[in-house]
Amino acid sequence: MTRRASVAIRIGGVCIGGDSPIVVQSMTRTDTRDVSATVDQIKQLKDCGCEIVRLAVPDSDAAQSLAGIKKRVSLPIIADIHFDYRLALAALESGVDGLRLNPGNIGDREQVAMVVKAAKHREVPIRVGVNAGSIPPDFQPEAPLVERMVNMALEQIRIMEALEFRLIKVSLKAFDVPSTIQAYQMIAGKTPYPLHLGITEAGLPRTGAIRSAIGIGILLYQGVGDTIRVSLSAHPCEEVFVAYEILKSLGLRQRGPTLVSCPSCGRAEVDIIALAEEVSRRMERIRTPIKVAVMGCVVNGPGEARDADVGIACGKGRGAIFRKGEVVATADEQDLIDALMKEVSLSDTGGP
Ligand code: SF4
Repeated sequence: MTRRASVAIRIGGVCIGGDSPIVVQSMTRTDTRDVSATVDQIKQLKDCGCEIVRLAVPDSDAAQSLAGIKKRVSLPIIADIHFDYRLALAALESGVDGLRLNPGNIGDREQVAMVVKAAKHREVPIRVGVNAGSIPPDFQPEAPLVERMVNMALEQIRIMEALEFRLIKVSLKAFDVPSTIQAYQMIAGKTPYPLHLGITEAGLPRTGAIRSAIGIGILLYQGVGDTIRVSLSAHPCEEVFVAYEILKSLGLRQRGPTLVSCPSCGRAEVDIIALAEEVSRRMERIRTPIKVAVMGCVVNGPGEARDADVGIACGKGRGAIFRKGEVVATADEQDLIDALMKEVSLSDTGGP
């Protein structure tokens, strides 16, 4: 796939756009005014692979908490501001690495100019984000939704460019997957700025992961997108997990194990679903990119297990453990997982 050319920006120490890897973001669920809880969640997010974290800043107390949070975490922080320019100024003062804000929501040009000037002085990028649901009804009411989303974003971009500010990132989110895809495709050729992809309010983990994988996955496969956030009604580490699975599926990033497991069928003579679930659970903390196969019988099992770095191919109540195509052990069904995990641990170097 050929990636769309985009200018690179930096959020703290993380580069977005240009030739940089696709960056994984998430958002805290804690009350930003609760510094300890927010710091704890940011640390959890870092442990599970999140590279940039966004925090809601609904009032001045939340804005005042940012400096204390920033001191205690290493992940770059983006402050999510909606209507009050004073919160944006306070967030910048607190040392945040990025802002998410729409100049159009602030309205007053003088106030927008103050925020943009302060962001420019600190070299802090701003994300212009258009959500389909929040476009004012009187903005180009005759135009189709996708055009309205794109034109709204371009208008916000022009406001910032008129203030000679170009540290811009753009998002165009909708719940409707086809609209989101079309909007990003349309804006991709109209602006050089990096694109932040997401399907907004995608839902609970099962359905939200599918919606996000389709929307974000199609765009990434077309070379569109520089950073992703999966929005789920779940703990934010779930979002990070799904984001990496999307990137791993497209071969764009590698992180942690990839489990290959067969669906099981009437030929299986072991409980392959229970085995696969247990292997997946035991590999949760492994960060090394390894391919692990759990296969239910000799029809496809040995072939898939041989292709994997480590794998098991099961027979009647027993299985063979493969490492790079070589049988290294056999074990009874009750000992198979321990034997497999012993081999997996030999491949675990501790990180990507
Ligand atoms: S590998 Fe064997 S048990 Fe698993 S789905 Fe295929 S045929 Fe069935």
